[in-house]
Amino acid sequence: MDMAEESTGISAVSIVRDMRTDQLNILWIVTLVGAGIIAWLSLLLVGEDMSQLGSILKPTLVLVIGSLATRGLLKRDLYQLSAWAFLLSHVLSVALFMASPIEVVADTAPFMFPMLISLAGLILTPVASVILFAISVLAIVATPWLLQGELLITPLRMGAITLSLVGTVLAVLTAGELYSVAAWSLVGYTKARERAEELRQSREALKRSLKVQEELNRRLRETNEELKIARAAADEANRLKGQFLANMSHELRTPLNVIMGFSETILNYPEMYDGVRLPEPYYQDMQQIFNSGQHLLHLINDILDLSRVEAGKLDLRLEEVDLKPIFEGTMSILIGLTKDKPIELIKDWPDDLPTVYADAVRIRQVIINLFSNAAKFTQEGHIALRARYDDKHVVVSVEDTGIGIAPEHHEAIFEEFRQVARYTGGQRNVGSGLGLTISKRLIDLQEGRIWVESELGKGATFHFELWRYDAWVAEHPEPQEHDKLRQVAPEHQREQT
Ligand code: ADP
Repeated sequence: MDMAEESTGISAVSIVRDMRTDQLNILWIVTLVGAGIIAWLSLLLVGEDMSQLGSILKPTLVLVIGSLATRGLLKRDLYQLSAWAFLLSHVLSVALFMASPIEVVADTAPFMFPMLISLAGLILTPVASVILFAISVLAIVATPWLLQGELLITPLRMGAITLSLVGTVLAVLTAGELYSVAAWSLVGYTKARERAEELRQSREALKRSLKVQEELNRRLRETNEELKIARAAADEANRLKGQFLANMSHELRTPLNVIMGFSETILNYPEMYDGVRLPEPYYQDMQQIFNSGQHLLHLINDILDLSRVEAGKLDLRLEEVDLKPIFEGTMSILIGLTKDKPIELIKDWPDDLPTVYADAVRIRQVIINLFSNAAKFTQEGHIALRARYDDKHVVVSVEDTGIGIAPEHHEAIFEEFRQVARYTGGQRNVGSGLGLTISKRLIDLQEGRIWVESELGKGATFHFELWRYDAWVAEHPEPQEHDKLRQVAPEHQREQT
């Protein structure tokens, strides 16, 4: 079995057999028709002399029976038998024709043999041709011998035998050809089938991947749809939250301003009450009311700031900023924050500190947040404000000698409402846990970063890094980027601390 047979399950032999079956199917029909014509011609030939009719009808009948037998055997899929039935019925018929008393018929009949022999090669094997040749020679020689009792080889019969021999040789050759043609067409057929199979498979694969693609597209559409709805809901929730916080802080600040205004007046401006001072026991409590009011105001401002950052509604004016005046201004606030404690304040920044790309108001807010933490958590030692720069950034640091922060809390303190130490040196930590969160968001918005270096008990240093203005411009050549105004919601008033 060769490669083509292995992959297709068919062989040259089976192709040849299929071709021969088709041929044989045609042949028996042709023979039937031929038999009909012979019968008709013989009726014309014999004319009045009915005695000779039998000698022609007998072989014709043999042909009809042979053809029907061929058909029956073919139907039963008995190819070899059917082919032999076909050939032998013809041989018998020819032999009967040879025995005909009509001389023309008897003389021409043997010339059918070469044709039968060639047919044998076509519908069976070359060997069948040879066998049929032998049978034909026997028939040509034996028939007259049986009929007349003598071996009479006429020149015509010699001619028939010679032609039969030629027919045999031709049959052997063409049958061989037939095999090679079949083998050749088999290779072509196999290749075509393989190609068709490949094509079918790749079409299937394409169909599958199209289906997958369709499914993915459908899911993408669904997800997009869901995303849209979710985003709309989130936007609405955020808007409501912002609205609520803005309203609430306004509502809270109005009575708070009344409380703080009156308590401050009572404490500091007795002339408003015709010089009558508050009795000492009340004075302390009034001071407490004022302090608590101030704390509450900080808290409200922090919450408002954070909600604005989160809603993306915080105004931010990013431009070229000189840090030194901000440093000076905030240092004076730090003096106020630490006045009761033995804390040295250190200023440490170079005179040629480059300008930065930032929002001056927000930088001030961050430094004040860091200062108030440093002042809150430091009882003695020093608090330093330092600044350093390289060719791209300026790093500002607030360093204290306070209680410090354990490394495992370095990340967490920048999260909302995180307080590591609630009590410091017996004094309650009065923060909101929002200062560092807001500071981090503000620095992030200014394309900077903030981090802490600290160990428990060894003080803490908060650093934040900002872009040098010249470096920022160099990296962002588009002019509109330089003094970018991040003003998402101009209707919001800027909060000043
Ligand atoms: P709070 O308003 O409580 O100070 P922050 O967000 O500013 O909120 O700080 C969060 C927590 O980080 C503080 O509660 C404190 O535990 C810790 N922390 C911040 N700054 C310092 C510091 N300089 N020294 C020690 N701990 C600090």
